Amino acid sequence: MIENDIKLDFSDVLIVPRPNTLVSRNDVNLEREFQFTNSGRIWTGIPIMVANMDTTGTIDMVRQLQEFHILTCLHKFYEPEDIPIDELNPDYFAISCGTSEKELEKLGRMVEIVKPHFICLDVANGYRHDVIEKIKHIRKLYPGITLIAGNVVTPEIVKEYYENGVDIVKMGIGSGSVCTTRLKTGVGYPQFSCIVDTKKEIPENCFIISDGGIQTVGDFSKAYGAGADFVMAGGMFAGHDECSGETIEENGTKYKIFYGMSSANAMNKHYGGVASYRSSEGKCVKLKYRGPVQQTVEDILGGIRSTMTYVGAKQMKELHEKCSFIRVNNTVNRIYNNNEV
Ligand code: 5GP
Repeated sequence: MIENDIKLDFSDVLIVPRPNTLVSRNDVNLEREFQFTNSGRIWTGIPIMVANMDTTGTIDMVRQLQEFHILTCLHKFYEPEDIPIDELNPDYFAISCGTSEKELEKLGRMVEIVKPHFICLDVANGYRHDVIEKIKHIRKLYPGITLIAGNVVTPEIVKEYYENGVDIVKMGIGSGSVCTTRLKTGVGYPQFSCIVDTKKEIPENCFIISDGGIQTVGDFSKAYGAGADFVMAGGMFAGHDECSGETIEENGTKYKIFYGMSSANAMNKHYGGVASYRSSEGKCVKLKYRGPVQQTVEDILGGIRSTMTYVGAKQMKELHEKCSFIRVNNTVNRIYNNNEV
């Protein structure tokens, strides 16, 4: 079976500006209110999420980004006692978790002690048969917590997640900056089309995250324009002071190490090696040290504001209806190809 329509990445499209009445970038509002069907919670903030990778999903990142009302998904290797609950606003971080018994047991302790507003159930292959069972289990145990789960790339399974208790479905397979899944497995879905093709098939309050593949600030706007309710990024937030991971210096230039969560690095660090039955589906790169994350965040927010004035979107939610796209070229994500270590 083959579907012949060409599927697109962010780098294959551009947004067409349209005449509108917005005068300045201050006329636009980057915060959006969400009412989550399954948890019943209401959340207001800028719908950006920092990826729950162990380099970017850190407590220091939450500290900085909560000031901007941006969510950080903490990586799953924290213990409950690592979380300084008095300093963190529970509206701006998620506790991450895998599907093993051990991880679900730790989640129980996390919920008890940290009292999170968001849980992020993260599985590399969200199509695994047991994931729906875990979703039902988590929803039953923690009815009032907003549940993020993924990763998947097609609308049928997004609907299934939603109907079984997920509030926000994380979408994207193979588009990440340090991901090698497409090379190792041949599996994936170009990120822009993944969002466009799904958005038109799902109920309005079934929210989706475009996760992975943001290479430039403009890609955030393209993702919202495509129909993403949230955009998650790892690489864009990597290399900063708030990130964990080694810092190295070569010929007077400082670098920070950034790696995929399925890379040999991550598996060596957290699981004592790559199990013989699985392959490493992530890479390790060195990025030029980028200083405090605040500047990067301001750059991202400035870019989105500017897009909104080009297309006449006063509110984030309007970006989807106001953006029309043209197809321009066809490239792959080569951003870190020269940085591999
Ligand atoms: P980025 O914003 O850096 O392009 O993508 C971040 C996303 O890449 C993460 O949120 C996660 O979904 C995905 N990711 C992180 N590490 C790995 C990995 O080792 N392998 C794969 N396949 N995906 C990864």
